[in-house]
Amino acid sequence: MIFDSVIRVLSLIVAAGGVHLTADFSRSEPPIATGKPRPQIVKPTEVEVRSAADAVRPLHVKMEKPGPSDWLANHKEAGQTFAQYQQRHKQRICNRFQTMYVQPLGAFTETQKKLREETAEFLGRFYGMPVKTLGPLSFENLPERAQRLRSDGETTQVLTHYLLDDVLRARRPKDAVAVLGLTASDLWPGEGWNFVFGQASLTERVGVWSIHRYGNPDAGEDEYKLCLRRTLKVAVHETGHMLGIDHCTAYQCGMNGSNHLAESDRQPLEFCPECQSKLWWTCGYAPLPRYRKLLEYTEARGLDEEGAHWRQAIDKIDPPKVSRQPKSKSE
Ligand SMILES: [Zn+2]
Ligand SMILES: [Zn+2]
Repeated sequence: MIFDSVIRVLSLIVAAGGVHLTADFSRSEPPIATGKPRPQIVKPTEVEVRSAADAVRPLHVKMEKPGPSDWLANHKEAGQTFAQYQQRHKQRICNRFQTMYVQPLGAFTETQKKLREETAEFLGRFYGMPVKTLGPLSFENLPERAQRLRSDGETTQVLTHYLLDDVLRARRPKDAVAVLGLTASDLWPGEGWNFVFGQASLTERVGVWSIHRYGNPDAGEDEYKLCLRRTLKVAVHETGHMLGIDHCTAYQCGMNGSNHLAESDRQPLEFCPECQSKLWWTCGYAPLPRYRKLLEYTEARGLDEEGAHWRQAIDKIDPPKVSRQPKSKSE
């Protein structure tokens, strides 16, 4: 059944994420930099993180009872508080890795290229790290074992394991927090699978995602925005896993597991206060400048729903000064 295959496919994404959850950055590689902080960044203290999380908590909605086809109705997950995350990841990732990389894979139309570039920019604003785009890699000389023709006889699919192991991991820069392979081609993860939206390896800090099934970004402004939202959601979600963030079960959150596209379309792009705390902490990224950068992004692209949220979040952290009514000069 199509539905079953979709569930299996999405399970794979998260199953791959499960591998990442055991990632321990403190022992996986020796430090690249000797703790020299980025000069312009003031890392929030634990007290500041907790206080900001409490300030924005009223803006977030608790997780509701899942529908029968939703992720949590089919997967038992315990969730992860900020305290649990800190216990597992004692070192801030920003002290060891400084840059995120986007690796374009295969051919892109002009619109898909724009989508990819806008996703790279958003990642930088969301996680507070520079994002570099690596030179594009062509699929022209893919080995036979790394590609197949789908049953429609028209669509070529590319094997995720080949991209993760032979392409991305092999080329991963030393300072990479994560290397995100983005492709417009359809993907499949191996025998027994129809397709996969994406796959990531948290232990290797590489992942690959396809925009092939996110709609047609050339079909008008609304359709472009839908494709952009979907791409942004998967990019921040999977990058969250690469930072060691588990699926969220407490709130409606960008780190919720998702069983189907309709479910992920319902979920917010932003993380909940607990998951944002992990990000603020490990990326050394203060909430207020983050919200301002995100708001600026949404205003430039008409992502009104997200913009309204970040405007409210700014007001919670930095409440507008109540202007006292000046007395009339004539009095
Ligand atoms: Zn996930
Ligand atoms: Zn969350």
